Amino acid sequence: MEQQKLIAELSSLIAGSDNIVFFGGAGVSTESNIPDFRSEQGLYNATSKYGYAPETMLSHSFFLDHPKEFFEYHLNEMIFEHAKPNDAHIALARLEQLGKLKAVITQNIDGLHQAAGSKNVLELHGSVLRNYCLNCGARYALDFMLEHRRQIPHCPDCGGVVRPDVVLYEEGLDDRVLRAAVKYISEAELLIVGGTSLVVYPAAGLIDYFRGRHLVLINKGATSYDGRAGLVIRDSIGKTLAAALKSI
Ligand code: NAD
Repeated sequence: MEQQKLIAELSSLIAGSDNIVFFGGAGVSTESNIPDFRSEQGLYNATSKYGYAPETMLSHSFFLDHPKEFFEYHLNEMIFEHAKPNDAHIALARLEQLGKLKAVITQNIDGLHQAAGSKNVLELHGSVLRNYCLNCGARYALDFMLEHRRQIPHCPDCGGVVRPDVVLYEEGLDDRVLRAAVKYISEAELLIVGGTSLVVYPAAGLIDYFRGRHLVLINKGATSYDGRAGLVIRDSIGKTLAAALKSI
């Protein structure tokens, strides 16, 4: 089907539903110039100047065993403090304002959905904007971490290590966030999935809870869930959502 027809179909699905849920990943933020993991320009393909794979450097055991390298990687490669929301974030915020979109469920840790105005955002993997002391629990904003870009951040109150509130590999997801995500997905009529390779579990498995009428996938690359979707659009998510919302 030609691209225009696909957009028209998406537009009509969106127009016809007031129980939409969006589930996305790193591809939602590439148009804000934040690299994803698995695209050609993604972090996995970038030559690592650190000598470890990204999954290793973003793991709980690496954080414990090599805190200096962990923070160097996290603070220099995972934080994009100047990034701005793109057309995808803006379109989703608008759909929420219109009362059509019930929740954004994201694997991203960049806070750009909220920056675009979305209110109900479930962050499966946490956020780089939140940080906390492992010793006393004091909370710190991103600015505090950026001041410590060249060292391990220590809590000014107690001296404990301040870590980002993100879910590292080998760590479990927040149960409350996960349960809320399952509830929204299982009750949705239209589920739009985009900008995710759907290979990171348990996040990717959330789609299995969908029992609604229409599953739409918007992703540049193929995913193992393409066969299950009623509509698959292999294109930019920002461009696609902006075009689909023009007539809404
Ligand atoms: P991924 O890198 O595995 O997959 C991204 C997918 O998005 C790819 O299939 C790619 O083809 C597609 N894509 C890229 N740009 C796109 C665009 N403009 N329009 C449509 N599709 C596009 O990402 P993932 O599935 O989210 O898994 C990676 C993990 O990495 C997540 O757990 C996430 O926490 C983390 N991560 C987050 C960020 C962020 O917060 N922005 C960035 C990198 C990685």
